[in-house]
Amino acid sequence: MAKIKNSNKKSKALILISKADRKHGKIKGKNKKETKQLRLMCPHYKITKKGHVKATIIPAPGVDENGHKYCVCEQCGATVRTKFLTDEDVAKVIGDAMDMFQQLKYMGTAVGSDKTVDLAAQVCVLLKAGKKGYLRTRDIAKKSGNMKKKKNKNNGRGSNFYGSWSVNK
Ligand SMILES: [Zn+2]
Repeated sequence: MAKIKNSNKKSKALILISKADRKHGKIKGKNKKETKQLRLMCPHYKITKKGHVKATIIPAPGVDENGHKYCVCEQCGATVRTKFLTDEDVAKVIGDAMDMFQQLKYMGTAVGSDKTVDLAAQVCVLLKAGKKGYLRTRDIAKKSGNMKKKKNKNNGRGSNFYGSWSVNK
């Protein structure tokens, strides 16, 4: 566990992930289950020893199966797309997931799996909140210009990271 300076005003996930142990740069928990959970919570940033917040994603070569450019997170291994989803994309993605969990609540009750019903109910609430959060944050990011092209001095890393979002188009 690493120590974190200035940990106020930072997300719980960022603090948790920054404190986590590493093996070859990748987040590692006490066991396989914890490793998986920690990696799923990774915000693709970390707090450095000096207390700076640093991006941990690097541009991947080529495009994904949908033809989009993307980045890979060095500490969790997740791929992170660099193109914003449109309102239509968001409605489709959330709509499909919502369909699945609406059905799961119904199925769970039918087969007597209370845990599944409660899990699916939570997911439905979170999907709705997640949709709102995505749209709001995307619009702020677009307006603020933070994600626009900046001089890329450092191979898309660190504070110059936002430059790599310019691969958007
Ligand atoms: Zn990550």
